[in-house]
Amino acid sequence: MRKFLYWFIQLTWGLPLNLIGAAIAFVLLCRGYKLKTFGYAVYFEVARNWGGVNFGGFFFVQKNANTQLKSHEYGHGFQNLLLGPLMPFLVTIPSAVRYHHRNYLKAKGYSLPPYEQFWCEGWATRLGIKYYKG
Ligand SMILES: [Zn+2]
Repeated sequence: MRKFLYWFIQLTWGLPLNLIGAAIAFVLLCRGYKLKTFGYAVYFEVARNWGGVNFGGFFFVQKNANTQLKSHEYGHGFQNLLLGPLMPFLVTIPSAVRYHHRNYLKAKGYSLPPYEQFWCEGWATRLGIKYYKG
């Protein structure tokens, strides 16, 4: 029942990001990538050393991602349940911009504040810990 509710809300209130997630998942399935599950979510492992990205009930992480990373991306999925259509503007886009900005600063040799310091990142980690029962 909880899984049903999770996906029901993902595919209604949280639909925008899930459409993108489903489109990426479709392309990856066509290319022979394996769909895996984590809690109620589905995910794929793609490429190396880049981290992860969440699109609602779907997330995508680097190959051999550890549980901590998967739990964090899973946590973003719960943010999508709460924020719905606001999620791309409050979390996904700011996080993506920050991710690339941090890589740029790192390449320039700057030291960076902790990743979790950004409000939605620490929140995602806490949600992942709260909702993922290994
Ligand atoms: Zn994140």
